[in-house]
Amino acid sequence: MISRRELQATSKDAKPGVVQTHSKYPFRLNFYDRPPVEEITIEQFETAALDRLRVLAEIESCFARNRTFEEMGKVIVGIWDKYLPLHSSTAHLERLEEERRKDHIGHFVLRLAFCRSEDLRRRFVKAETTLFKLRYQSDDHNEREKFLKSRDFDWVVASPEEIQDLITPTSYDPASKSSTYYKVKWTRVPDLVEKRKVVLKGGMAYVPAAEQASIVYQEFQRHLEKDLEATAKALPRLDEDTRLIPILDNLSKGFQAGISSEWAGKTEGQEGLTADMIDEMAYKHYPACMRNLHMALRRDKHLKHFGRLQYGLFLKVLGLSIDEALAFWRKAFSTMQDDKFNKEYRYNIRHSYGLEGKRANYAAMSCQQILMSHEPGSGDSHGCPYRHFSADNLQSALLTMYSDHGLTSQDMPEIMHMVKQKHYHVACTRVFEITHAHQGVKKGEGVGGGESVTHPNQYAARSRELEKKENGDGDVVMQG
Ligand code: SF4
Repeated sequence: MISRRELQATSKDAKPGVVQTHSKYPFRLNFYDRPPVEEITIEQFETAALDRLRVLAEIESCFARNRTFEEMGKVIVGIWDKYLPLHSSTAHLERLEEERRKDHIGHFVLRLAFCRSEDLRRRFVKAETTLFKLRYQSDDHNEREKFLKSRDFDWVVASPEEIQDLITPTSYDPASKSSTYYKVKWTRVPDLVEKRKVVLKGGMAYVPAAEQASIVYQEFQRHLEKDLEATAKALPRLDEDTRLIPILDNLSKGFQAGISSEWAGKTEGQEGLTADMIDEMAYKHYPACMRNLHMALRRDKHLKHFGRLQYGLFLKVLGLSIDEALAFWRKAFSTMQDDKFNKEYRYNIRHSYGLEGKRANYAAMSCQQILMSHEPGSGDSHGCPYRHFSADNLQSALLTMYSDHGLTSQDMPEIMHMVKQKHYHVACTRVFEITHAHQGVKKGEGVGGGESVTHPNQYAARSRELEKKENGDGDVVMQG
């Protein structure tokens, strides 16, 4: 861990013209040239990565929902304020160094997790470059200028005579004429060449000042692609570290599922929730995975192991006490003898409440866990319908579950398109919006502030919150 003394020492060595206050991280923007070298606890390692993953996963969701860059900006600002705040130096915050350090660590941990396959690398680079762009555009102007000066972007400012020679009224749109142009190799700005926003001559692209950011974004992307490949080559050496590998595996699974691994928000479970209230709760507030389990339980009067696990932990977080849970399951398995229930099921229910065995407080399963683990076989009801049902079954199941809540067959092409693209939780989020439109939820709003569904309990909690608001019952406490 770097000490305050070391920080001060670095500060004395800082070059003139560079912001002095935060010498280790003088700028909010970062090209992540060097990995963190100080000591990092496992907890910091994991938290920094998980919080960053939440932001990157939401960026991917925005792409899946075809949000414009401006719309994406609004959604992502809300998310990064929550999980990955990063202020400009002008904010003069004490925690500035800490924020930038977390940003730095999180980036490098995710590099380790996502360098492992071509597909993960491509997606990671796209999401990280978008995050960089959003930050670049929201950065303090002076700080950004200093950041640009602090790096060598290998561009040359073209002389006015040079420009005069290049631009003729026919060859270039006069509206985009600029007093400053940056000269770079044309291969460095393929996007600008494609959009005909640069003048080309002798293999060089003359980039107007208004498009300068494109050079920076391209450079960021190129830099990251190269570094990820180098990390992938170095990774086998890390495989011996038994502490880190499970964390990295979990992170990359989260990204493969398109969502971060956990839902950070916590709701107070509903007070006084009883077994008798569950049918109504399921009808009004459940996402498709839990609704499917509930319907299967009522139909078969039984659920197999993983179904009981997925549903039981969800009910616990929903607020069902252990006594009510025992009553609920006992009644639900109505064709079973008391003796068999007590011998084979009671223990497991108490176990999931941390009252037996190693007395662990098991968390309810997140979308990522449901999507990525324990593929359901025939006769199983667990899993995520968006992922595990056939297209026909999914459509008819969704209409059965939600047509009373405003979902119609006209909504299906949009939902099925998302499913086909494997954006299962985005499809679930869209269903949430449609089925809560009567409570004022608009398209793109997700489960609040544009956030996508990442946890079944988050879905149910937000649904209950909306109902309470509608009934004027005051707010359900939502933290995180
Ligand atoms: Fe359940 Fe998540 Fe699938 Fe929605 S996306 S149905 S909440 S697992």
